[in-house]
Amino acid sequence: MLQTRTIRAPRGTELACKGWTQEAAMRMLMNNLDPEVAENPDELVVYGGIGRAARDWESFDKMIETLKKLENNETMLVQSGKPVAVFKTHEHAPRVLIANSNLVPAWANWDHFYELEERNLMMYGQMTAGSWIYIGAQGILQGTYLSFVEAGKKKFGTADLRGKFILTGGMGGMSGAQPLAGKMAGAVILVVEVERARIERKIKEGYCDYLVETVDEAIELVNKLTAAKEPASIGLVGNCADVNRELLNRGIIPDLVTDQTSAHDPINGYVPNGMSFEEALALRAKDPKTYERKAKETMAEHVRTMLAFQEAGAETFDYGNNIRAYAKEMGVENAFDFPGFVPAYIRPLFCEGKGPFRWAALSGDPEDIYKTDALAKEMFADDEGLVNWIDMAQKMVKWQGLPARICWLGYGDRHRFALRVNEMVAKGELKAPIVFGRDHLDSGSVASPNRETESMKDGSDAVSDWPLLNALVNTAGGASWVSIHHGGGVGIGYSQHAGQVLVADGTDMAAEKINRVLVSDPGMGVVRHADAGYELAIKTAKEKGVHMPMLEG
Ligand code: NAD
Repeated sequence: MLQTRTIRAPRGTELACKGWTQEAAMRMLMNNLDPEVAENPDELVVYGGIGRAARDWESFDKMIETLKKLENNETMLVQSGKPVAVFKTHEHAPRVLIANSNLVPAWANWDHFYELEERNLMMYGQMTAGSWIYIGAQGILQGTYLSFVEAGKKKFGTADLRGKFILTGGMGGMSGAQPLAGKMAGAVILVVEVERARIERKIKEGYCDYLVETVDEAIELVNKLTAAKEPASIGLVGNCADVNRELLNRGIIPDLVTDQTSAHDPINGYVPNGMSFEEALALRAKDPKTYERKAKETMAEHVRTMLAFQEAGAETFDYGNNIRAYAKEMGVENAFDFPGFVPAYIRPLFCEGKGPFRWAALSGDPEDIYKTDALAKEMFADDEGLVNWIDMAQKMVKWQGLPARICWLGYGDRHRFALRVNEMVAKGELKAPIVFGRDHLDSGSVASPNRETESMKDGSDAVSDWPLLNALVNTAGGASWVSIHHGGGVGIGYSQHAGQVLVADGTDMAAEKINRVLVSDPGMGVVRHADAGYELAIKTAKEKGVHMPMLEG
């Protein structure tokens, strides 16, 4: 699979495809593998352990070739990263339909997945890796920032985290957003990362301030910076289970504790302790079964330390990597004593259809994003948090690949905003079309009982009809590409989720699609939570006119 190639999406207005929708799909697939964006592009890995954009290089090349030839009334079908068919559809239909990593439930485990992957029959698509709307660490930055702020509010009654100490793990694709998000929230954040090069990369990208090698150095720096109330981020080279234990032994209790190592994958993600990083890589290659056992044992140790921090008063939460489930499997009976971040802080946002909405400029020109930033600030001027977010992002976020912006908009706002952007494209105020998309971690697009749908009010955590309906309605509404995935975020067997991306190319047809898809997509979030009995979602549905037959008298 390994090939050293440099992929970068074309910029500008010259089309290699027969329409902007196909062109957008092609550019966004390529953008996912841009070396500025992807964690390991040579192996087609975008982020999240082994989350890939295409099954192999042959499939990648064939997808690009097919997209270039694809007519405006045809649809390419992608099965786990491989293009398998093109069918005649119609102009309002998606140009690409994607199904990644889906397994019949009784077979849905990592062992079976790896057996199939070995035979090149399947690929792990994570969430936005295999659905071509990953925008680098910024994609999770605002959500991470919001989670830290909410955690701070809960613990200290204030959103200002200056002088507070956050401890977490992982500085990879998504987890690499943590240092900057913690700093944006005003805190001093210590991120433990086992692979030195990952910290170095984040320093280069402007996401992290300091790299330290020892716990002593880390503590000294944390003490100095918290005392000065100076927001900052520190990467410590080490294994989380070991560093956390060491801090506990010294009686150092952070204010907030979480973790975002790639624990969802005990073979190709999480790194066991008791050996050097290089020894771990060698063991992974030679004896994956032993590696898996050791990784799960380390996760159990790691979770025990998080429970001890919680016991000692730290605000402790799981950050969506399923580490509690593996720890429980290894005998940590009370692993779920600390909550996941969604029930703890994010669910009220989901009730209003809010989630990690994003857009990217196909022109490649940052000016296009600055113009959309200005529009967002004008349209949502009353929303102080949103305006602050855009100001901070402009100052602190470096572009990775095509310029893009993350902005948590909810039901009613997403389509209004996209329609205005579509008009700007039509009038030539922007240099090229804009693609609108979102994470699969959104309000109405995922069933993941240890993460997005943990502790649902009505106990419907594992019901995955919702993400499937989400994909169906977005397909019916004419999204540009739609995807159905399994196993993202928390690993094979633990989640089902769907994605959609929509291109605003300035045409009336794009406006029609926006009016359907960017209403139904966040609408599914409101409906899913209203159906589960959340008052805020019921109120949102009633006030904003979401038609739910069972809510009518
Ligand atoms: P990644 O594989 O790119 O990065 C994970 C990092 O963790 C790597 O750099 C790895 O070296 C490091 N690591 C692994 N084991 C370690 C250990 N024991 N000690 C210290 N460092 C260790 O993955 P990612 O894209 O950063 O995602 C990380 C996790 O977060 C995944 O499980 C993913 O599903 C989850 N995730 C959560 C959210 C959310 O919103 N909560 C969003 C995206 C991803």
